[in-house]
Amino acid sequence: MEIYDAVIIGAGPSGIICAGRAAERGRKVLLLEKKSSLAKKLLISGKGRCNLTNAGNIDKFLTEFSPSGIFLRNVFNRFFNKELCNLFEKLGVVLKTERGGRIFPRSDKAGDILGALEKYLKINHVSVKTGEEVENIVTSGASIEVLTSRAKYYAKKMVIATGGLSYPETGCTGFGFKLAEKLGHKIIEPRPGLVGLVVKEDAAKKLQGLSLENVEVTLLAQGKIYEKIFGDMLFTHYGISGPIVLDLSNKVCDLIKEGKETCVSINLKPALNFQKLDSRLLREFSASPNKTVKNIFVTLLPQRLIIEFLKRSGVDANLKANQVSKETRRELVKNLFDFRFHISKVRPIEEAIVTRGGVNTKEINPKTMESRLVKNLYFCGEVIDVDAKTGGYNMQAAFSTGYVCGENL
Ligand SMILES: Cc1cc2nc3c(=O)[nH]c(=O)nc-3n(C[C@H](O)[C@H](O)[C@H](O)COP(=O)(O)OP(=O)(O)OC[C@H]3O[C@@H](n4cnc5c(N)ncnc54)[C@H](O)[C@@H]3O)c2cc1C
Repeated sequence: MEIYDAVIIGAGPSGIICAGRAAERGRKVLLLEKKSSLAKKLLISGKGRCNLTNAGNIDKFLTEFSPSGIFLRNVFNRFFNKELCNLFEKLGVVLKTERGGRIFPRSDKAGDILGALEKYLKINHVSVKTGEEVENIVTSGASIEVLTSRAKYYAKKMVIATGGLSYPETGCTGFGFKLAEKLGHKIIEPRPGLVGLVVKEDAAKKLQGLSLENVEVTLLAQGKIYEKIFGDMLFTHYGISGPIVLDLSNKVCDLIKEGKETCVSINLKPALNFQKLDSRLLREFSASPNKTVKNIFVTLLPQRLIIEFLKRSGVDANLKANQVSKETRRELVKNLFDFRFHISKVRPIEEAIVTRGGVNTKEINPKTMESRLVKNLYFCGEVIDVDAKTGGYNMQAAFSTGYVCGENL
């Protein structure tokens, strides 16, 4: 009977790096993946470019995670962005840093990151089996029995690296949560993280496909301001999405759960103050008194937004500039700073970029990734209850927990 030192379930970034590192240390490792190829989610990450990490320091990283992210301090101290970049560079990938410290392969191809990871598995002689779904494990005997759709394997140690529940077509259907629960672990309720927001106003639908750059979005619930983020967003067929909306979405999800009426206010001109914007409008209206408001607004807003904006401000788009009263002008300025949408719900977890919740971090040794409840059982990646905002933080968490786990097998 062949016994592996470790069997790793799931070949996403965390499972792959874990398998590679364990094998690099001389362990006999089997990596099992249910899909026909490895890391399908990594391939679509960062819009196919894979934002694999961020250039920020550990303290900055931790501020980007939900509170349970503090669990990651140990693994980040051991294997962080510099070590990850060095590993990829050693495997032949040239990297680049973009706005906000986001790190990508210079080729802009997530496939190059996967190619390097496959090389890491190969040079370290990891046995990889794809198209093989783990269905159950039995931990009662001398070794762990891993039962798949095709065979039975034996292992001294076992790693659950099955990811979360989002984008199920990439293989993530929550199997790891069920398995961990069966083995006695507490699962913090899985819920969508970094997800689009459905809004009540149909204006959003009319604007679908339009992206707004360098705007500031404020999240409000029952009059209270919760968060303000500057950056880019997008209108979609259901409402709003894009980087800053995704980053606000976790808080939105919590507020909706608490039964709070939630809305976002878009500041379309965050670089200006009321006085400056009002003077600018006055100047433009006076310089072209016979121009329509909609024509004057072309210098202020994207073409597609103008009609919708004027409609929601209660201003006839064909009104001549010299017919605009002072009150109307001030109302327009006010709305440019506070273009509101009310949120009815968040999109489902299947569409989320990450799963919030998962295996309770209190039940995992933060230095080794071993379960505190079941000996020889380990976790890495998104199956653990840690999640962060956009910017490469989630992927680094997967790589760091995977690598450190591999060091302890
Ligand atoms: C559209 C999208 C874009 C993203 N972009 C970024 C980005 O640019 N930067 C960033 O930091 N993060 C990004 N993320 C998040 C990031 O991809 C994940 O956090 C990361 O992939 C988690 O890695 P993982 O190894 O834990 O799990 P996963 O990558 O989810 O891999 C888990 C693997 O386990 C396999 N598996 C599951 N169950 C079984 C079973 N029973 N038997 C065998 N195999 C099984 C699955 O098929 C899958 O291959 C993005 C996510 C999405 C959905």
